[in-house]
Amino acid sequence: SVASLGNSVIPIVNKLQDIAAQLGSNASFDLPQVAVVGSQSSGKSSVLEALVGRDFLPRGCDICTRRPLVLQLLQTKNSNEEWGEFLHLPGKRFYDFNDIRREIQSETDREAGGNKGVIDKQIRLKIFSPNVLDITLVDLPGITKVPVGDQPSDIEGRIRTMIMSYIKIPSCVILAVTPANSDLANSDALQMAGIADPDGYRTIGVITKLDIMDRGTDARNFLLGKVIPLRLGFVGVVNRSQEHSAYSKRANPGAPSAPRHAEDIANNRSIKDALVAEEKFFRSRPVYNDIADQCGVPQLAKKLNQILVRHIKSVLPNLKAQISAQLVSVAKEHASYGETVESKAGQGTVILNILSKYSEAFASLIEGRNEEMSTS
Ligand code: GDP
Ligand code: MG
Repeated sequence: SVASLGNSVIPIVNKLQDIAAQLGSNASFDLPQVAVVGSQSSGKSSVLEALVGRDFLPRGCDICTRRPLVLQLLQTKNSNEEWGEFLHLPGKRFYDFNDIRREIQSETDREAGGNKGVIDKQIRLKIFSPNVLDITLVDLPGITKVPVGDQPSDIEGRIRTMIMSYIKIPSCVILAVTPANSDLANSDALQMAGIADPDGYRTIGVITKLDIMDRGTDARNFLLGKVIPLRLGFVGVVNRSQEHSAYSKRANPGAPSAPRHAEDIANNRSIKDALVAEEKFFRSRPVYNDIADQCGVPQLAKKLNQILVRHIKSVLPNLKAQISAQLVSVAKEHASYGETVESKAGQGTVILNILSKYSEAFASLIEGRNEEMSTS
């Protein structure tokens, strides 16, 4: 299931969003958008996939993310099914996540051509699931220096402009992805994030590929912020390498294709396996033992959660003010019904009770009494 991202904040966010919806459109609040930035093949798509917990993004080929993919996660309330829907194919539900990947690939080719072209026209995909936060993730093409295929000579500048248009938005959380087997001090990701978010209030540093660093080297100093300091700090991750990805089938095209359901399970398992392998990696490397809270996809999800909680806290006072105003008007309306209109008065009381219950929950959130939810 789509579970890694935001499990611990789902219930409270749901309640708050329900309440905000009841209060009317001016009270609604959105969670910040999360975008990945980094050089080509640094592992951006892999990190997003690991956070979502499903295997569905094109990744691994030298330049497969060639259009921004705006991935909107939407929580379903009355169904246990998970499916995807593209804006360009309204009404068509994709229950097989392998089909989602194939559709992203063909839609990329359709608009950006088959020869490595990169364009800024978005692909918009909604993933419906009972296990997600209503949050938007953006997978972006990577920074590339040397034009290939149909790319224009100023490809680097164009991609940088495209990336900047997403990460400069003040509410955007930036995942700045740098592979550990590159020159960490010259990270494109951190350089761009530094321009978009100079104070570092919304940038999380993500170091990928810790498993393929040169023998005898490690990313400890980098994770500790001793090479480049970052306010919100760094998290190191180990994602799947090419051989373990869903692409292994391509290398072996003669293999019989598994039935749809089995294929899905195999993909789910491969994400789970990757998490187990990652945990084992960090456990077996003493240099990372005392910084375990900065190691692994679950820690990255936790850091993101903390940022979401911070955001929710910042919107609460406004929400609370609106609830108070609503309480006053409901109470007045209630009083005006008198004893005669039983059913309407009853409804008013129910709403009143619900609202005051939630406003207490808000109050405790604001005062930080619910702090444990950011660390559970
Ligand atoms: P993107 O271009 O930044 O989106 O990078 P991808 O997510 O497509 O990854 C590029 C390649 O690196 C793929 O073959 C991934 O399987 C591989 N990869 C990503 N993260 C890791 C990692 O942590 N370790 C290893 N060994 N390979 C990784
Ligand atoms: Mg990618």
